[in-house]
Amino acid sequence: MDIDKIKNSIRNVPDFPKPGIQFKDITTLLQDQDAFKETIEAFYDAFKDEKIDVIVGIESRGFIFAAPLALKLGCRFVLARKPGKLPSETVAEEYELEYGTDAIEIHTDAISKGDRILIVDDLLATGGTAKATGSVVNKLGGEIVSYAFLIILKFLKGDELLKPVPVFSIIEY
Ligand code: AMP
Repeated sequence: MDIDKIKNSIRNVPDFPKPGIQFKDITTLLQDQDAFKETIEAFYDAFKDEKIDVIVGIESRGFIFAAPLALKLGCRFVLARKPGKLPSETVAEEYELEYGTDAIEIHTDAISKGDRILIVDDLLATGGTAKATGSVVNKLGGEIVSYAFLIILKFLKGDELLKPVPVFSIIEY
């Protein structure tokens, strides 16, 4: 696995979307076919020996990695979306933002009791989004095998918020 290739393909954009934020831009990785392929391979290698029924991808950049991984692992793919986007009956969980709240929704019939779930997103920052997604999965009776991120911003300690569920990541900052 060529971690440097993956890392070098991610663009850092300082002060986006506001001053002080170092935005990790994965659009440059997506334009590099080898780096994109290496990324999916890295996720696959980490989970190929686990029994996983469902991959839950978090809106929206999580979808990009979750969909090919679900096909490669041979499991179902479920969307975790922001409020008002999913058309059928949903279960939701709210979470705190710096200013106000947001929420994550999943279709009620997308996960069954006892399903083994892998939750995928591009980046773990404070962990609020991933934690809310995990709560919805648990409400629906799913068992979270692990969280998986392309990037973890370790200094924000999001992985501690997600404990005791394991957190896999390919790149750490
Ligand atoms: P959080 O809930 O704080 O863990 O934020 C995670 C979500 O926000 C993920 O879906 C990321 O795509 C996005 N995000 C947060 N911080 C960054 C960053 N520095 N660069 C790129 N995306 C970010």
